[in-house]
Amino acid sequence: MIPRLDLRGRRPGLRELRAALPRADFDVEAALGAVRPVVEDVRERGAAALHDAAERFDGVRPPALRVPAEVVAGALETLDPLVRAALEESIRRARLVHADQRRSEGVTRVAPGGTVRERWVPVDRVGLYVPGGRAVYPSSVVMNVVPAQEAGVPSLAVASPPQRDHGGWPHPTILAACALLGVDEVYAVGGAQAVAALAYGFEEDGAVCEPVSLVTGPGNIYVTAAKRLLKGLIGIDSEAGPTEIGVLADDTADPEHVAADLVSQAEHDPLAAAVLVTDSPALAAAVEEALGRRVSATKHTERVAEALAGRQSAVVLVDDLEVGLDVVNAYAAEHLEIHTADAAAVAARVRNAGAVFVGTWAPVSLGDYCAGSNHVLPTGGCACHSSGLSVQSFLRGIHVVEYDEAALREVGGHVVVLARAEDLPAHGEAVLARVPEVEPGAWPP
Ligand code: NAD
Repeated sequence: MIPRLDLRGRRPGLRELRAALPRADFDVEAALGAVRPVVEDVRERGAAALHDAAERFDGVRPPALRVPAEVVAGALETLDPLVRAALEESIRRARLVHADQRRSEGVTRVAPGGTVRERWVPVDRVGLYVPGGRAVYPSSVVMNVVPAQEAGVPSLAVASPPQRDHGGWPHPTILAACALLGVDEVYAVGGAQAVAALAYGFEEDGAVCEPVSLVTGPGNIYVTAAKRLLKGLIGIDSEAGPTEIGVLADDTADPEHVAADLVSQAEHDPLAAAVLVTDSPALAAAVEEALGRRVSATKHTERVAEALAGRQSAVVLVDDLEVGLDVVNAYAAEHLEIHTADAAAVAARVRNAGAVFVGTWAPVSLGDYCAGSNHVLPTGGCACHSSGLSVQSFLRGIHVVEYDEAALREVGGHVVVLARAEDLPAHGEAVLARVPEVEPGAWPP
């Protein structure tokens, strides 16, 4: 049911691997066509467009776009105590990891009297998207909010789709997670329209949602397309689309663990990708057999079967782990598990992945909820150039340049020469107006 790709007897280069490896029919460019009119409508008609989009795409008109504070607080009061305890532990661990990511200001003394300082400044206002279509993701509240708070973002708003079964408000577990984290600005808006609402801002009944500067968070193809469309007006994190799991395994791997983990990520979305790379035909066969059993026994059988059978999923056979590493580095999975004899040494050689899970006791679902790591991670190969969500995603580095007169005099001649070499002589004049003695020819003094 899961396709096979046999690369044995070959060591393909990057170009060939990129062409051969499975990828979803995840055409963000095509989704842009569907999303553009929705975004335009939100820009023009604001709240009215958001209600219409909710009715059309979520099947319900929310009672109000901003969720009242008492509804957010009430969701926490009725939260199952076991779920509350699990969320609190997830938050505690995420805080430990993200607090360690805080940046400290650095000062470099370039010359006597000349320094460049780097200040790390949080974005003033951010919008955090929490998915709620096929599944609801209170865990994504934690993964968005904790790094934003640890970065010191002063104003943040959460948006999540209105739910037909919950009176048109976002899912109560999502609201409860917001309450646990002290977030009180929550909007019942999902999909592309949520990204547009956060980017442009809107007003309803005199209450204003001010525009944000940055939107982060995972989502389906429409959310991803809207982020791509509005990038520039707003900053975005990576494109965190339908989930992917890669597994690099040898004959020491437990096929039941591998199969369980492939199914766990295929459960997200029919477009989710599950890719096993192994040098062991016996393991490949055992995993395929275990998948057959597990897929029919799991709750979301149809979604999982579609994801595993799709062109984005495969069992890839290679000659050895060297080629296996080439393959996983070319694929750049959102999540990569290593199930090999010396998993830590193999993991150290992975260069492209959103997050790496080392050995038997670190399944991806641990990272989805409670490892302390972030689960908002780049997909679609973006892990070869982008990182997952972190404190850094919410910070900007500002260089602060301080030179005294002597320091400018020392280097000024070089500035004038370079300015003239670029045919931008006025740049040089700005220096000569201050320290005329550095005129090249008369300089160095
Ligand atoms: P979602 O909230 O992303 O999408 C639901 C919204 O999609 C709806 O509110 C609706 O407005 C919009 N929509 C649905 N059909 C539409 C259509 N035909 N046209 C326009 N808009 C439409 O929730 P979801 O669908 O469950 O998707 C969540 C995604 O997030 C999954 O693909 C999952 O794998 C992914 N995810 C990724 C990460 C990551 O870090 N990469 C983490 C968690 C989840």
